[in-house]
Amino acid sequence: MSFRATILTLYPEMFPGSLDLSLAGKAREAGRWALETVQIRDFATGKHRNVDDTPAGGGAGMVMRADVLARAVDHAAPADDPRPRLLMSPRGRPLDQRRVRELATGPGAVILCGRFEGVDQRLIETRDLEEVSVGDYVLSGGEPAALVLLDAVIRLLPGVMGNDASGEEESFEGGLLEHPQYTRPQLFEERPIPDVLLSGNHARIAAWRRAEAEKLTRRRRPDLWMAYKDGGG
Ligand code: SAH
Repeated sequence: MSFRATILTLYPEMFPGSLDLSLAGKAREAGRWALETVQIRDFATGKHRNVDDTPAGGGAGMVMRADVLARAVDHAAPADDPRPRLLMSPRGRPLDQRRVRELATGPGAVILCGRFEGVDQRLIETRDLEEVSVGDYVLSGGEPAALVLLDAVIRLLPGVMGNDASGEEESFEGGLLEHPQYTRPQLFEERPIPDVLLSGNHARIAAWRRAEAEKLTRRRRPDLWMAYKDGGG
């Protein structure tokens, strides 16, 4: 069974967006993953079909209503749907390669994209939503965050990346950032490709790459470096 994504959004026309091109697009054509969008507004009632209202307690902006969202979630993912229910949210656990990998081995995901000031807390609690962040900055909506998450997941699905081994040496996979990469021309603006990479000596090349990856990680991401060392990496 292939990976099935259901996106709940006020802007379904933002999907598949970039995911219809390149690897992800081809993989969708090949049936390796499927995408469904649900227009949240279809679950609003009343003349104006409001999906949001003013925040209890006052303050700026609008909050998405629990009742409208609950109907949308229950429609998209009945109680026996095995897929995790995610809410894109700057308050969530920061997305990392480990969670991406877990999602890629599962049946799919139901992804709720927030707008305005976010969603009513009771929706998060009653529908058991896992809040997921794509970084410590604020987007105007969850849609670009959902595209980021799906992009990262889809490239890991079986048969999607041409060369499956290329996933294993990448940034984060071994707890390190990736080593620098080079390709032809051999000389670019007086800078040659490092000799070792042209030596044909695979052991030396591997040692050089590892040393460069460690150097880079130590300098740029002390947090990753500490975890790598503690993990005995
Ligand atoms: N008032 C909220 C921000 C709302 S931004 C707060 O301060 O926490 C509107 C919507 O954009 C959110 O509901 C969420 O779905 C999405 N969003 C914004 N930043 C995000 C991030 N870093 N990661 C994931 N989703 C994000």
